[in-house]
Amino acid sequence: MSKKYFLDEEELPREWYNILPDLPEPLPPPLNPATGKPVSPEDLEPIFPKELIRQEVSQERFIPIPEEVLEVYRIWRPTPLIRATRLEKALRTPARIYYKYEGVSPPGSHKPNTAVAQAYYNAREGVARLTTETGAGQWGSALSFATMLFGLKLTVYMVRVSYQQKPYRAILMQTWGAEVVPSPSNRTKAGRAFLEKDPEHPGSLGIAISEALEDAIEHEDTKYSLGSVLNHVLLHQTIIGLEAIKQMQALDEFPDIVIGCVGGGSNFAGISYPFYYLVRSGKAPKKTRFLAVEPASCPSMTKGEYMYDFGDTARLTPLLKMYTLGHDFVPPPIHAGGLRYHGAAPTLSLLKKAGIFESVAYNQVEVFEAARLFARTEGIVPAPESAHAIKAVIDEALEAKRKGEEKVILFNLSGHGLLDLAAYREFLEGRLPAHEYPAEAIQKSIAKIKEYLLARGIQP
Ligand SMILES: *Cc1c(COP(=O)(O)O)cnc(C)c1O
Repeated sequence: MSKKYFLDEEELPREWYNILPDLPEPLPPPLNPATGKPVSPEDLEPIFPKELIRQEVSQERFIPIPEEVLEVYRIWRPTPLIRATRLEKALRTPARIYYKYEGVSPPGSHKPNTAVAQAYYNAREGVARLTTETGAGQWGSALSFATMLFGLKLTVYMVRVSYQQKPYRAILMQTWGAEVVPSPSNRTKAGRAFLEKDPEHPGSLGIAISEALEDAIEHEDTKYSLGSVLNHVLLHQTIIGLEAIKQMQALDEFPDIVIGCVGGGSNFAGISYPFYYLVRSGKAPKKTRFLAVEPASCPSMTKGEYMYDFGDTARLTPLLKMYTLGHDFVPPPIHAGGLRYHGAAPTLSLLKKAGIFESVAYNQVEVFEAARLFARTEGIVPAPESAHAIKAVIDEALEAKRKGEEKVILFNLSGHGLLDLAAYREFLEGRLPAHEYPAEAIQKSIAKIKEYLLARGIQP
Protein backbone atom coordinates (compact mmCIF):
# COMPACT_ATOMS: atom_id res chain seq x y z
CA MET A 1 0.00 0.00 0.00
CA SER A 2 1.25 3.47 -0.88
CA LYS A 3 1.91 5.56 2.19
CA LYS A 4 0.96 8.83 0.53
CA TYR A 5 -2.67 9.86 0.57
CA PHE A 6 -3.95 12.50 -1.82
CA LEU A 7 -7.44 13.92 -2.03
CA ASP A 8 -9.03 14.35 -5.38
CA GLU A 9 -8.87 17.97 -6.52
CA GLU A 10 -12.66 17.89 -6.56
CA GLU A 11 -12.64 17.17 -2.83
CA LEU A 12 -10.81 20.39 -1.94
CA PRO A 13 -12.71 21.99 0.99
CA ARG A 14 -14.90 24.93 -0.16
CA GLU A 15 -15.13 26.64 3.23
CA TRP A 16 -12.71 27.60 5.99
CA TYR A 17 -13.56 26.76 9.62
CA ASN A 18 -13.96 29.68 12.04
CA ILE A 19 -13.37 28.70 15.66
CA LEU A 20 -14.83 31.89 17.22
CA PRO A 21 -18.35 30.49 17.82
CA ASP A 22 -16.87 27.30 19.34
CA LEU A 23 -14.48 28.67 21.96
CA PRO A 24 -15.10 27.52 25.56
CA GLU A 25 -15.69 31.16 26.53
CA PRO A 26 -15.92 34.44 24.57
CA LEU A 27 -12.59 35.79 23.32
CA PRO A 28 -11.51 38.87 25.31
CA PRO A 29 -11.68 41.77 22.80
CA PRO A 30 -8.57 43.57 21.50
CA LEU A 31 -8.21 46.86 23.40
CA ASN A 32 -7.27 50.31 22.21
CA PRO A 33 -4.23 51.13 24.40
CA ALA A 34 -5.09 54.84 24.50
CA THR A 35 -8.60 54.35 25.92
CA GLY A 36 -8.50 50.85 27.39
CA LYS A 37 -11.75 50.20 25.44
CA PRO A 38 -12.32 47.46 22.83
CA VAL A 39 -11.13 48.47 19.34
CA SER A 40 -13.89 49.00 16.81
CA PRO A 41 -13.77 47.56 13.29
CA GLU A 42 -13.38 51.15 11.96
CA ASP A 43 -10.15 51.53 13.97
CA LEU A 44 -8.67 48.78 11.82
CA GLU A 45 -9.69 50.18 8.42
CA PRO A 46 -6.45 52.14 7.77
CA ILE A 47 -4.59 48.83 8.15
CA PHE A 48 -6.75 46.00 6.78
CA PRO A 49 -9.35 45.63 4.00
CA LYS A 50 -13.00 45.43 5.11
CA GLU A 51 -13.53 41.76 4.31
CA LEU A 52 -10.61 40.68 6.50
CA ILE A 53 -11.89 42.86 9.36
CA ARG A 54 -15.29 41.20 8.93
CA GLN A 55 -13.68 37.76 9.09
CA GLU A 56 -11.63 38.79 12.14
CA VAL A 57 -14.80 39.13 14.25
CA SER A 58 -17.19 36.84 12.36
CA GLN A 59 -19.32 34.39 14.33
CA GLU A 60 -20.15 32.32 11.22
CA ARG A 61 -18.78 28.82 11.72
CA PHE A 62 -17.95 28.17 8.05
CA ILE A 63 -16.80 30.89 5.62
CA PRO A 64 -16.81 30.23 1.85
CA ILE A 65 -13.44 30.23 0.05
CA PRO A 66 -13.68 32.50 -3.03
CA GLU A 67 -13.32 30.72 -6.37
CA GLU A 68 -10.32 32.96 -7.27
CA VAL A 69 -8.51 31.72 -4.14
CA LEU A 70 -9.40 28.07 -4.79
CA GLU A 71 -8.03 28.54 -8.30
CA VAL A 72 -4.61 29.40 -6.83
CA TYR A 73 -4.80 26.76 -4.07
CA ARG A 74 -5.12 24.16 -6.83
CA ILE A 75 -1.47 24.83 -7.85
CA TRP A 76 -0.37 22.75 -4.82
CA ARG A 77 -3.50 21.73 -2.88
CA PRO A 78 -4.69 19.35 -1.65
CA THR A 79 -1.35 18.64 0.06
CA PRO A 80 -0.46 15.01 0.74
CA LEU A 81 -1.02 13.22 4.03
CA ILE A 82 1.95 10.91 4.48
CA ARG A 83 2.43 8.02 6.89
CA ALA A 84 5.95 8.11 8.34
CA THR A 85 6.46 4.35 8.26
CA ARG A 86 10.26 4.56 8.10
CA LEU A 87 10.38 6.87 11.11
CA GLU A 88 8.02 4.49 12.95
CA LYS A 89 10.36 1.61 12.16
CA ALA A 90 13.47 3.49 13.28
CA LEU A 91 11.75 4.30 16.60
CA ARG A 92 10.29 0.76 16.90
CA THR A 93 7.08 2.34 18.03
CA PRO A 94 3.60 0.84 17.83
CA ALA A 95 2.33 4.39 17.18
CA ARG A 96 1.10 5.26 13.68
CA ILE A 97 2.57 8.61 12.64
CA TYR A 98 0.96 10.73 9.92
CA TYR A 99 2.00 14.12 8.66
CA LYS A 100 0.39 16.72 6.49
CA TYR A 101 3.12 18.08 4.20
CA GLU A 102 2.76 21.81 3.55
CA GLY A 103 6.26 22.12 2.05
CA VAL A 104 4.90 21.37 -1.43
CA SER A 105 3.61 24.93 -1.95
CA PRO A 106 5.72 27.14 -4.27
CA PRO A 107 7.18 29.19 -1.33
CA GLY A 108 7.72 25.93 0.60
CA SER A 109 5.46 26.37 3.64
CA HIS A 110 1.85 26.62 4.83
CA LYS A 111 1.98 30.44 4.71
CA PRO A 112 0.54 30.95 1.20
CA ASN A 113 -2.78 29.50 2.47
CA THR A 114 -3.48 32.90 4.03
CA ALA A 115 -1.18 35.04 1.84
CA VAL A 116 -3.24 34.18 -1.25
CA ALA A 117 -6.53 34.95 0.50
CA GLN A 118 -5.23 38.24 1.90
CA ALA A 119 -3.77 39.40 -1.43
CA TYR A 120 -7.06 38.54 -3.13
CA TYR A 121 -9.25 40.56 -0.70
CA ASN A 122 -6.88 43.57 -0.78
CA ALA A 123 -6.78 43.58 -4.60
CA ARG A 124 -10.59 43.30 -4.74
CA GLU A 125 -10.90 46.39 -2.52
CA GLY A 126 -8.53 48.47 -4.70
CA VAL A 127 -5.39 48.44 -2.53
CA ALA A 128 -2.19 49.13 -4.57
CA ARG A 129 0.58 48.05 -2.19
CA LEU A 130 1.00 45.84 0.87
CA THR A 131 3.65 46.03 3.58
CA THR A 132 4.64 43.25 5.90
CA GLU A 133 7.37 41.86 8.13
CA THR A 134 9.17 38.57 7.86
CA GLY A 135 11.34 36.63 10.29
CA ALA A 136 12.86 33.58 8.67
CA GLY A 137 11.67 34.85 5.28
CA GLN A 138 8.88 32.32 4.87
CA TRP A 139 6.05 34.81 5.29
CA GLY A 140 7.72 37.41 3.06
CA SER A 141 8.18 34.89 0.29
CA ALA A 142 4.61 33.60 0.64
CA LEU A 143 3.21 37.13 0.37
CA SER A 144 5.56 37.96 -2.54
CA PHE A 145 4.18 34.95 -4.39
CA ALA A 146 0.57 35.91 -3.56
CA THR A 147 0.82 39.65 -4.34
CA MET A 148 2.47 38.83 -7.67
CA LEU A 149 -0.53 36.66 -8.61
CA PHE A 150 -3.03 39.45 -7.88
CA GLY A 151 -1.00 42.40 -9.27
CA LEU A 152 -0.16 44.16 -5.97
CA LYS A 153 3.16 45.77 -4.97
CA LEU A 154 4.84 44.57 -1.78
CA THR A 155 7.44 45.96 0.66
CA VAL A 156 8.87 43.38 3.09
CA TYR A 157 10.67 44.40 6.30
CA MET A 158 12.92 41.44 7.02
CA VAL A 159 14.47 40.83 10.47
CA ARG A 160 18.15 41.71 9.93
CA VAL A 161 19.63 38.55 11.48
CA SER A 162 17.52 36.44 9.10
CA TYR A 163 18.42 38.67 6.15
CA GLN A 164 22.06 37.90 6.90
CA GLN A 165 21.62 34.20 7.71
CA LYS A 166 19.18 33.45 4.88
CA PRO A 167 20.07 35.50 1.80
CA TYR A 168 18.25 33.06 -0.47
CA ARG A 169 14.85 33.92 1.00
CA ALA A 170 15.35 37.58 0.02
CA ILE A 171 16.36 36.54 -3.50
CA LEU A 172 13.21 34.43 -3.75
CA MET A 173 11.06 37.43 -2.76
CA GLN A 174 12.84 39.66 -5.27
CA THR A 175 12.36 37.02 -7.97
CA TRP A 176 8.61 37.26 -7.35
CA GLY A 177 8.87 41.07 -7.57
CA ALA A 178 8.89 42.29 -3.94
CA GLU A 179 11.06 45.00 -2.38
CA VAL A 180 13.01 43.65 0.64
CA VAL A 181 14.29 45.96 3.42
CA PRO A 182 16.45 44.68 6.34
CA SER A 183 14.88 45.71 9.68
CA PRO A 184 15.48 47.80 11.73
CA SER A 185 15.80 50.21 8.79
CA ASN A 186 16.03 53.97 8.44
CA ARG A 187 12.76 54.03 6.44
CA THR A 188 10.59 54.47 9.52
CA LYS A 189 10.63 56.31 12.84
CA ALA A 190 10.45 52.99 14.68
CA GLY A 191 13.40 51.57 12.76
CA ARG A 192 15.54 54.68 13.19
CA ALA A 193 15.02 54.61 16.97
CA PHE A 194 16.45 51.08 17.21
CA LEU A 195 19.35 51.85 14.86
CA GLU A 196 20.32 54.84 17.00
CA LYS A 197 20.62 52.58 20.04
CA ASP A 198 22.53 49.88 18.15
CA PRO A 199 23.57 50.23 14.48
CA GLU A 200 24.10 46.42 14.40
CA HIS A 201 20.72 45.64 15.96
CA PRO A 202 19.79 42.01 14.99
CA GLY A 203 16.12 42.96 14.76
CA SER A 204 13.10 40.94 15.83
CA LEU A 205 9.67 40.18 14.46
CA GLY A 206 8.16 42.75 16.82
CA ILE A 207 10.37 45.54 15.47
CA ALA A 208 9.73 44.57 11.85
CA ILE A 209 5.97 44.59 12.49
CA SER A 210 6.28 48.14 13.86
CA GLU A 211 8.05 49.26 10.68
CA ALA A 212 5.59 47.64 8.30
CA LEU A 213 2.61 49.07 10.23
CA GLU A 214 4.07 52.58 10.24
CA ASP A 215 4.70 52.41 6.47
CA ALA A 216 1.11 51.30 5.81
CA ILE A 217 -0.47 53.90 8.11
CA GLU A 218 1.55 56.71 6.46
CA HIS A 219 0.50 55.79 2.89
CA GLU A 220 -3.07 56.09 1.61
CA ASP A 221 -2.97 53.35 -1.07
CA THR A 222 -1.12 50.90 1.18
CA LYS A 223 -2.33 48.31 3.65
CA TYR A 224 -0.59 45.94 5.98
CA SER A 225 -0.64 42.18 6.02
CA LEU A 226 0.11 39.87 8.94
CA GLY A 227 1.22 36.25 8.54
CA SER A 228 0.05 34.83 11.86
CA VAL A 229 -1.65 35.51 15.24
CA LEU A 230 -4.88 37.19 14.02
CA ASN A 231 -8.18 35.30 13.76
CA HIS A 232 -8.54 35.72 9.98
CA VAL A 233 -5.04 34.30 9.40
CA LEU A 234 -5.75 31.21 11.49
CA LEU A 235 -9.11 30.89 9.69
CA HIS A 236 -7.43 30.63 6.26
CA GLN A 237 -5.02 27.98 7.55
CA THR A 238 -7.85 25.63 8.55
CA ILE A 239 -7.83 24.26 5.01
CA ILE A 240 -4.95 22.07 6.27
CA GLY A 241 -7.00 20.36 8.97
CA LEU A 242 -10.15 20.17 6.84
CA GLU A 243 -8.22 18.28 4.16
CA ALA A 244 -6.56 16.09 6.81
CA ILE A 245 -9.96 15.08 8.23
CA LYS A 246 -11.08 13.80 4.81
CA GLN A 247 -7.75 12.05 4.21
CA MET A 248 -7.78 10.32 7.59
CA GLN A 249 -11.44 9.36 7.21
CA ALA A 250 -10.57 7.61 3.95
CA LEU A 251 -8.08 5.51 5.96
CA ASP A 252 -10.50 4.94 8.81
CA GLU A 253 -8.07 6.67 11.15
CA PHE A 254 -8.50 9.46 13.70
CA PRO A 255 -5.66 11.12 15.63
CA ASP A 256 -5.18 10.57 19.37
CA ILE A 257 -2.94 13.60 19.33
CA VAL A 258 -2.42 16.50 16.91
CA ILE A 259 0.96 18.24 17.08
CA GLY A 260 2.36 21.42 15.51
CA CYS A 261 5.05 24.01 16.12
CA VAL A 262 3.98 27.48 17.28
CA GLY A 263 5.43 30.85 16.39
CA GLY A 264 2.26 32.93 16.27
CA GLY A 265 0.12 29.80 16.07
CA SER A 266 -1.23 29.74 12.50
CA ASN A 267 0.00 26.40 11.14
CA PHE A 268 -0.87 24.60 14.38
CA ALA A 269 -4.33 26.19 14.49
CA GLY A 270 -4.69 25.28 10.81
CA ILE A 271 -4.25 21.59 11.39
CA SER A 272 -5.81 21.36 14.88
CA TYR A 273 -8.93 23.58 14.91
CA PRO A 274 -11.02 21.45 12.51
CA PHE A 275 -10.27 18.38 14.69
CA TYR A 276 -11.10 20.41 17.80
CA TYR A 277 -14.45 21.20 16.18
CA LEU A 278 -15.21 17.49 15.71
CA VAL A 279 -14.20 16.70 19.29
CA ARG A 280 -16.18 19.59 20.77
CA SER A 281 -19.32 18.89 18.76
CA GLY A 282 -19.28 15.22 19.74
CA LYS A 283 -18.57 14.04 16.18
CA ALA A 284 -15.11 12.61 16.95
CA PRO A 285 -14.52 8.95 17.85
CA LYS A 286 -11.79 9.92 20.35
CA LYS A 287 -10.92 12.56 22.88
CA THR A 288 -8.00 13.93 20.90
CA ARG A 289 -5.13 15.80 22.60
CA PHE A 290 -3.64 18.96 21.04
CA LEU A 291 0.04 19.77 21.60
CA ALA A 292 1.78 23.05 20.66
CA VAL A 293 5.59 22.98 20.42
CA GLU A 294 7.85 25.98 21.02
CA PRO A 295 11.56 26.83 21.27
CA ALA A 296 12.97 26.83 24.83
CA SER A 297 14.46 30.26 24.08
CA CYS A 298 11.07 31.80 23.21
CA PRO A 299 8.41 29.74 25.05
CA SER A 300 5.38 32.07 24.99
CA MET A 301 2.68 29.47 25.74
CA THR A 302 4.82 27.30 28.00
CA LYS A 303 6.43 29.96 30.21
CA GLY A 304 4.63 33.20 29.35
CA GLU A 305 1.73 34.87 31.12
CA TYR A 306 -1.85 35.09 29.88
CA MET A 307 -2.45 38.83 29.79
CA TYR A 308 -2.98 41.84 27.55
CA ASP A 309 0.10 42.87 25.59
CA PHE A 310 1.05 44.62 22.39
CA GLY A 311 1.62 42.58 19.24
CA ASP A 312 4.72 44.61 18.35
CA THR A 313 7.69 46.27 20.01
CA ALA A 314 6.79 49.88 19.18
CA ARG A 315 3.33 49.50 20.76
CA LEU A 316 1.44 50.31 17.56
CA THR A 317 -0.97 47.36 17.59
CA PRO A 318 -4.05 46.99 19.78
CA LEU A 319 -3.60 45.13 23.05
CA LEU A 320 -4.29 41.42 22.61
CA LYS A 321 -5.12 39.03 25.43
CA MET A 322 -2.65 36.19 24.89
CA TYR A 323 0.24 34.23 26.34
CA THR A 324 3.19 36.59 26.09
CA LEU A 325 6.82 36.99 27.13
CA GLY A 326 6.42 40.77 27.00
CA HIS A 327 6.54 42.77 23.76
CA ASP A 328 10.08 44.07 24.27
CA PHE A 329 11.61 40.67 24.94
CA VAL A 330 14.12 39.99 22.13
CA PRO A 331 14.76 36.23 21.91
CA PRO A 332 18.23 34.88 21.06
CA PRO A 333 18.83 34.53 17.29
CA ILE A 334 17.92 30.84 16.93
CA HIS A 335 17.56 29.24 13.49
CA ALA A 336 13.82 28.70 13.72
CA GLY A 337 13.31 32.42 13.00
CA GLY A 338 9.60 31.89 12.39
CA LEU A 339 9.16 30.89 16.04
CA ARG A 340 10.86 33.99 17.52
CA TYR A 341 7.64 35.79 18.45
CA HIS A 342 6.89 37.04 21.97
CA GLY A 343 3.17 36.13 21.93
CA ALA A 344 0.77 33.47 20.67
CA ALA A 345 -2.57 33.78 18.86
CA PRO A 346 -5.42 34.90 21.20
CA THR A 347 -7.67 31.94 20.32
CA LEU A 348 -4.86 29.43 20.84
CA SER A 349 -3.91 31.17 24.11
CA LEU A 350 -7.51 30.93 25.33
CA LEU A 351 -7.59 27.18 24.55
CA LYS A 352 -4.36 26.65 26.48
CA LYS A 353 -5.65 28.74 29.38
CA ALA A 354 -8.83 26.62 29.42
CA GLY A 355 -6.70 23.46 29.70
CA ILE A 356 -7.89 22.10 26.33
CA PHE A 357 -4.60 22.60 24.47
CA GLU A 358 -1.14 21.71 25.85
CA SER A 359 2.32 23.05 25.09
CA VAL A 360 5.95 21.96 25.43
CA ALA A 361 9.31 23.62 24.66
CA TYR A 362 12.62 22.22 23.32
CA ASN A 363 16.07 23.68 22.68
CA GLN A 364 17.35 23.90 19.13
CA VAL A 365 20.02 21.20 19.43
CA GLU A 366 17.50 18.48 20.39
CA VAL A 367 15.24 19.86 17.67
CA PHE A 368 17.92 19.51 14.98
CA GLU A 369 18.68 15.97 16.20
CA ALA A 370 15.02 15.16 15.53
CA ALA A 371 15.24 16.88 12.13
CA ARG A 372 18.25 14.77 11.18
CA LEU A 373 16.50 11.54 12.14
CA PHE A 374 13.50 12.61 10.09
CA ALA A 375 15.64 13.46 7.05
CA ARG A 376 17.46 10.11 7.36
CA THR A 377 14.23 8.11 7.56
CA GLU A 378 11.54 10.00 5.63
CA GLY A 379 13.91 11.85 3.30
CA ILE A 380 12.35 15.29 3.60
CA VAL A 381 14.62 17.93 5.18
CA PRO A 382 12.24 19.84 7.46
CA ALA A 383 12.24 23.57 8.17
CA PRO A 384 13.82 24.20 11.61
CA GLU A 385 10.40 25.48 12.75
CA SER A 386 8.66 22.25 11.72
CA ALA A 387 11.43 20.22 13.35
CA HIS A 388 10.10 21.38 16.74
CA ALA A 389 6.91 19.45 16.02
CA ILE A 390 8.96 16.43 14.93
CA LYS A 391 10.86 16.41 18.24
CA ALA A 392 7.56 16.26 20.12
CA VAL A 393 6.24 13.56 17.77
CA ILE A 394 9.31 11.41 18.48
CA ASP A 395 8.86 11.84 22.23
CA GLU A 396 5.16 10.89 21.97
CA ALA A 397 6.01 7.86 19.81
CA LEU A 398 8.66 6.70 22.29
CA GLU A 399 6.20 7.06 25.13
CA ALA A 400 3.70 4.96 23.17
CA LYS A 401 6.44 2.34 22.86
CA ARG A 402 7.11 2.30 26.62
CA LYS A 403 3.39 1.91 27.29
CA GLY A 404 2.77 -0.46 24.37
CA GLU A 405 0.07 1.87 23.01
CA GLU A 406 -1.15 1.94 19.39
CA LYS A 407 -1.43 5.70 19.40
CA VAL A 408 -2.28 7.62 16.20
CA ILE A 409 -0.16 10.77 15.91
CA LEU A 410 -0.86 13.51 13.37
CA PHE A 411 1.46 16.45 12.89
CA ASN A 412 1.87 19.37 10.55
CA LEU A 413 5.13 19.43 8.59
CA SER A 414 4.74 23.15 8.03
CA GLY A 415 7.60 23.59 5.54
CA HIS A 416 10.77 22.23 4.00
CA GLY A 417 14.25 23.31 5.10
CA LEU A 418 16.02 23.55 1.75
CA LEU A 419 16.67 27.26 2.25
CA ASP A 420 17.85 26.62 5.84
CA LEU A 421 20.87 24.52 5.01
CA ALA A 422 23.27 26.98 6.64
CA ALA A 423 21.58 26.10 9.94
CA TYR A 424 21.98 22.39 9.19
CA ARG A 425 25.67 22.98 8.51
CA GLU A 426 26.11 24.61 11.93
CA PHE A 427 24.33 21.69 13.53
CA LEU A 428 26.29 19.02 11.65
CA GLU A 429 29.56 20.74 12.57
CA GLY A 430 28.52 20.86 16.24
CA ARG A 431 28.49 24.68 16.33
CA LEU A 432 24.81 25.16 17.18
CA PRO A 433 24.26 26.65 20.67
CA ALA A 434 21.51 25.09 22.84
CA HIS A 435 20.13 28.41 24.11
CA GLU A 436 18.38 27.96 27.42
CA TYR A 437 15.29 29.63 28.71
CA PRO A 438 16.22 33.31 29.31
CA ALA A 439 14.22 33.55 32.55
CA GLU A 440 15.50 36.88 33.78
CA ALA A 441 14.99 38.84 30.55
CA ILE A 442 11.46 37.45 30.29
CA GLN A 443 10.55 38.30 33.89
CA LYS A 444 11.72 41.86 33.34
CA SER A 445 9.81 42.21 30.11
CA ILE A 446 6.57 40.86 31.63
CA ALA A 447 6.90 43.09 34.71
CA LYS A 448 7.27 46.08 32.39
CA ILE A 449 4.08 45.52 30.41
CA LYS A 450 2.14 44.81 33.63
CA GLU A 451 3.29 48.08 35.09
CA TYR A 452 2.40 49.88 31.85
CA LEU A 453 -1.15 48.51 31.86
CA LEU A 454 -1.82 49.08 35.56
CA ALA A 455 -0.58 52.69 35.27
CA ARG A 456 -3.33 53.20 32.67
CA GLY A 457 -6.04 51.47 34.69
CA ILE A 458 -6.15 48.47 32.34
CA GLN A 459 -6.56 45.08 34.00
CA PRO A 460 -3.75 42.84 32.61
C1 LIG B 1 6.29 30.88 9.90
C2 LIG B 1 6.47 29.45 10.07
C3 LIG B 1 6.08 28.83 11.26
C4 LIG B 1 5.55 29.57 12.47
O1 LIG B 1 4.43 30.35 12.29
P1 LIG B 1 2.99 29.92 12.83
O2 LIG B 1 2.12 31.09 12.59
O3 LIG B 1 3.10 29.56 14.26
O4 LIG B 1 2.60 28.76 11.98
C5 LIG B 1 6.21 27.47 11.33
N1 LIG B 1 6.72 26.74 10.32
C6 LIG B 1 7.12 27.32 9.16
C7 LIG B 1 7.69 26.47 8.08
C8 LIG B 1 6.99 28.69 9.01
O5 LIG B 1 7.37 29.25 7.86
